[in-house]
Amino acid sequence: MAAPARTVAVPAISPKLLAAALLSVGVLLLLAYLVGFDQGAVSRSGMYLHELMHDGRHLLGVPCH
Ligand SMILES: [Zn+2]
Repeated sequence: MAAPARTVAVPAISPKLLAAALLSVGVLLLLAYLVGFDQGAVSRSGMYLHELMHDGRHLLGVPCH
């Protein structure tokens, strides 16, 4: 015989919290896409973003080569 079902109280998620969580996931996915794009994982022909970030590093004075 199966054990009787138990009820578990789940806290309610406010719409603001849900929106903030979805926005965070979206931003992280966009960041992962941009890093992949920059590393050539998404587009092997487009080096525009890579050169843009490279120039940005030079503008900030970060030594790279
Ligand atoms: Zn450089």
